Amino acid sequence: MESQTSDFLVIGSGLAGLSFALRAAERGRVVVLTKGEIQESNTNWAQGGIAAAVSESDSWELHEEDTLIAGAGLCDPAAVRYLVQEAPRAIEWLISLGAEFDKETDGDLALGREGGHSRHRIVHHLDRTGGEVERAMIAAVRNHPNIEIFEHAFVTRLLTHDSACIGASAMVESIGHRYFFAKSTMLATGGAGKLYQHSTNPSVATADGVALAAQVGAKIENMEFMQFHPTTLYHPQMRSFLITEAVRGAGGTLRNHLGRRFMYDYDSRLELAPRDVVARSIEVEMKKHQTWCVYLDISHKDSASIRHEFPTIYERLKSIDIEMDKDWIPVVPAQHYSCGGVVTDLDGQTSVPGLYAAGEVTCTGVHGANRLASNSLLEALVFAGAAAKVAEGGKPEERPDSTDEPKCIAESESIRIRRAMQKVMMSDVGIERSNAGLAEAKQGINELIAEYDSLPSAPFSTHPLETRNLLLAAREVVAGAIARKVNVGLHFNVDNPTAVSPYSAVPEPTPAGS
Ligand SMILES: Cc1cc2nc3c(=O)[nH]c(=O)nc-3n(C[C@H](O)[C@H](O)[C@H](O)COP(=O)(O)OP(=O)(O)OC[C@H]3O[C@@H](n4cnc5c(N)ncnc54)[C@H](O)[C@@H]3O)c2cc1C
Repeated sequence: MESQTSDFLVIGSGLAGLSFALRAAERGRVVVLTKGEIQESNTNWAQGGIAAAVSESDSWELHEEDTLIAGAGLCDPAAVRYLVQEAPRAIEWLISLGAEFDKETDGDLALGREGGHSRHRIVHHLDRTGGEVERAMIAAVRNHPNIEIFEHAFVTRLLTHDSACIGASAMVESIGHRYFFAKSTMLATGGAGKLYQHSTNPSVATADGVALAAQVGAKIENMEFMQFHPTTLYHPQMRSFLITEAVRGAGGTLRNHLGRRFMYDYDSRLELAPRDVVARSIEVEMKKHQTWCVYLDISHKDSASIRHEFPTIYERLKSIDIEMDKDWIPVVPAQHYSCGGVVTDLDGQTSVPGLYAAGEVTCTGVHGANRLASNSLLEALVFAGAAAKVAEGGKPEERPDSTDEPKCIAESESIRIRRAMQKVMMSDVGIERSNAGLAEAKQGINELIAEYDSLPSAPFSTHPLETRNLLLAAREVVAGAIARKVNVGLHFNVDNPTAVSPYSAVPEPTPAGS
C-alpha cells in the first residue's frame, strides 16, 4: 500500500478542519483529506452567523448564561466558559484571515439577535455567513506552503497501532488507495443529517466521523440530542431548504391541511414558541392527521414587503411555482444539527491517543441537551484552535495493526438500505419518541446492519461506505435515546414516566360577529 507521512492529518474541510490546518501549519506539515470538493460542507451552508459577546452592552457572562440555559442542565460548564471567553478572539482571527462581516455605518460589527440570546451578538455576513467564512479559510489554506489538500479523498477508516491513532486510510480519486500517517489526526467530518429522510444538511453529512471513531474505540455521547428545524420546504422536486424563522417572526402562521391554525392546540406563544416546541407540535399534528406536511402561510402580508424581506426564499419557491405572497408553503421539520458525537476534552483530545476531533462531529459539552443558535460555528473554531496548540507533530508510527478495509456493497442495495434506515429514524427516532418505537428502531437498524454485512462485496464506492457509517451512527442515536430515561432538551419520549405534557393549548379566537 502506498503511503504518505506528515506531522498532522486533517479529515474534513469545513470550518473545524481548515482552522485546525491553518494553525497547525505554523508548527509542521499538514495534509487535509476531504471527500468532495473542498467547499462541500455544512459550514458552507450556514446562514445566520457566529455568536460572540463583542458589543459593549454584552459580556461573556451573559453569553455563558444563555448557552447554559439552552443546554438544559447538561452542558459542561468549563467547556461553555472556554467557548464564550474565546469567542471575541476567534472572530478577530477570522477577520485577520480576510473574512468580511456586516458592519454598522460607524464601522462597528453589525450584530444580529437570535432565539435564546439575551443580547445582539450574532456576527454575520448577509444571510450567507458560512459561505463567507469558508471562502476566506479556503483562500488561506490554498496559499499556505505547509498545507497539502486532497479533494475527493474518502477516508475509509482510522489507522491504529497499540490503541493509538496513527493516521487514516483513504481512497483518493486521482491516485487510488493510500495510507496517510501522522503523529496527530484531527477528525473534523461534520454532521449526521443524512440519518434522516428530511435534513437541512448537504449530502456530505453522513456521520462518517462518529462511525470511524467508534470503530477504534473512541467514546461517543449524547447522540440522542438531535436538533430539528421546524420549517423546511416539503416538495418532491426540490431538496429540503430552510424557511427561516424570520417568516414566522414576520407574521407567518402554521396551518394544517384543513387550513386550521393548529398551534392554538399546543403553545400560548403559537408560531413563535421555541424551535423544539414548534417542531414537536408540527410532528404531532402531522401524525394526528396522517399528512406529509403542514403549511406556512404569510399570504396576508403585502407582496412588496415579502419580496424585500425574503428575496432568496421568494425566488427559490417561485422556481417551483409556489408564490409565497399568494400560496401556502408546504413545510416539514427536518434534522438540522447533531449535538452529540465524539467526546473530547477542552483541547479537542478524544479518548484515543493521537486522535483529536472538532466541530459538529464532537461532543465537547458546550451544547448539553440543546444547542444555542450560532454557537456551532464558534465551537468548531474555538476547539480546533485549542487542539492545534497541543497536538504533537513529529514522526508517527507507520505499522497499522490491521489492514482490513470496510466492505462495499452494490450501490443499488446501498440506496435501498439507506432509505429504509432514514424511514426508521424519521418515524421512530425523530422529534417525538416512544418506548415501542425505539425498540422497533433498535431491531430495524440491527437488521439493516446484518443485511448490509450479508450482501456480496462490490468494488469501492463511497455511497455504501457512507451508508454503513450512517447505520453505525444510527445505532448510537438509538442506544442513547433508549438509555435516556428523562425528557430533557431535544430528547422527548412520550413514555418517560417523568414526562409532563409539553403542550399548553390556548383558546382559538372566534371570528368577529360569529
Ligand atoms: C442550513 C444550515 C444553516 C446553519 N446555520 C448556522 C449558523 O447560522 N450558525 C452556526 O453556528 N451554525 C449553523 N449551522 C451549523 C454549522 O454550519 C455546522 O455545525 C458547522 O459548519 C460544522 O462545521 P464542521 O467543520 O464541523 O463540519 P462541516 O462544515 O460539515 O465539514 C465536514 C467536512 O468533512 C468532510 N468529510 C466528512 N466525512 C469524510 C470522510 N469520510 N472522508 C473525508 N472527508 C470527509 C466533508 O466533506 C466536509 O468537508 C448551519 C447548518 C446548516 C446545514
